[in-house]
Amino acid sequence: MQIANYINGKLTAPNSGDYIDNIDPAIGEPYGRVPDSDERDIATAVAAARDAFPGWSATPAAERSAILLRIAQLIKDNFDDIAMAECIDTGKPHKLARSVDIPRAIANLKFFATAILHTQSESHITDSAAINYTLRRPHGVVGLISPWNLPLYLLTWKIAPALATGNTAVAKPSEITPMTAFLLSELCIEAGLPPGVLNIVHGLGAKVGAALAVHDDVAAISFTGGTATGASIAESTSRRFKKLALEMGGKNPNIVFADADMDGALDTSIKSAFSNQGQLCLSGSRIFVENSVYGDFVNRFVDTARELKVGDPLDDSCDQGALVSQAQLDKTKYYVDLARDEGGNILCGGKRPTDKEIGERCAGGFFYEPTVVNGLAADCRVNQEEIFGPVVSISPFDTEDEVIEYANGTNYGLAASVWTKNLDRAHRVADRIECGTVWVNCWMLRDLRVPFGGMKESGLGREGGEEALRFFTEPKNVCVALHGRS
Ligand code: NAD
Repeated sequence: MQIANYINGKLTAPNSGDYIDNIDPAIGEPYGRVPDSDERDIATAVAAARDAFPGWSATPAAERSAILLRIAQLIKDNFDDIAMAECIDTGKPHKLARSVDIPRAIANLKFFATAILHTQSESHITDSAAINYTLRRPHGVVGLISPWNLPLYLLTWKIAPALATGNTAVAKPSEITPMTAFLLSELCIEAGLPPGVLNIVHGLGAKVGAALAVHDDVAAISFTGGTATGASIAESTSRRFKKLALEMGGKNPNIVFADADMDGALDTSIKSAFSNQGQLCLSGSRIFVENSVYGDFVNRFVDTARELKVGDPLDDSCDQGALVSQAQLDKTKYYVDLARDEGGNILCGGKRPTDKEIGERCAGGFFYEPTVVNGLAADCRVNQEEIFGPVVSISPFDTEDEVIEYANGTNYGLAASVWTKNLDRAHRVADRIECGTVWVNCWMLRDLRVPFGGMKESGLGREGGEEALRFFTEPKNVCVALHGRS
């Protein structure tokens, strides 16, 4: 299937007339074509967004809200087709797309569509001299750049607050997984979103994403993706002083103390290690277990990882689907080889499953077995660099101080999980870990009101709830003198 850009309310072909193959990762073959757009398509899309801004920003919040809710409802009405598109585009299990990605995309739209109906503002009285109040106005045209691992979920995480607050937008989904963004553009037309309010331009990051980031009429960029790409966007936009929100990579610690509920810790650690084939920025890819329970935990963890069924994403009996691309499969293999070189023991996995195990339909797909490694030093590359595949490293620790040093000993700082029944320790450790989110006795529980983002090289700024509403608006203080002049 050949998809189109969505510019000024219409589905349009790229200026170049060229297309990129869209690969189905479960079979390793092209199944569609993605516009190979360039800066000309970005220029048209930004111009459409600029023209739409005065009307959209002046549209009453209740009307903006109603349109976004209509889009959410249309996703719900087309749930099966969209979940299937997400599964085929990404290689993730169909049941995961149905249970996580698409419901969360709907929730994003609903949350921000209704949040703008309940915003509050404050005023400040300066003695008896003046009243200060703060206006929050949308920026104008914003650029939204998103990755392939949770395509619709992360795209709507940006689109919803950007549009709800009155901005118009040009979105650039990942060229690797464009299909759900295309379906969304069809639904925006059906929902009656005015032309130009949202534009979606498909194509390569270095061409389309880079052109969007530096466009002079784009006031703010919200980016989710790899740290190297985030750094290049920060560099290319630095002299233009755009508002930037960067959500980037992670190498998240998952810490299990001896007093934890071991069944819960084990169950959730398996999910946090291998959900979406380990391709989550929030994956708990470094597991640290207190020495007294380490041996038992490792045995049970490895036994459970071995039982995970890898195979056809359309088969609901499979727990793991395909990695998103040949490049991601090669990267995973590279890091497993590196783990061997760095002195690690491969406790399970460490290879592609056989064609017989995967089944005939998926023989050419990008599959890899859930892999557990131990015996690695905390500062080795496998424990420092984001793999973004089904590979976890597991290590023992003796003391709280020691494990906090390990946890904080990377350049990343996105998220962490802590497993303990000791309330004092839970709060103490949560406070000492350098990251944006700490889950205590859980993982991936989501409340859309909380700030989301990372410290260090995991991010700049925060998304989610009030933070997103703030990011997409510019505050302006108005100071009114109470007694004529002062
Ligand atoms: P990526 O950085 O390669 O691509 C992300 C997006 O940026 C894509 O749309 C891509 O086309 C675009 N892009 C690429 N080069 C660009 C450039 N020079 N200028 C502008 N845009 C450009 O990331 P990916 O491989 O798609 O996604 C995986 C990464 O995303 C991982 O590192 C993961 O941790 C991270 N991620 C972070 C979060 C978070 O919330 N922190 C969430 C999901 C994924």
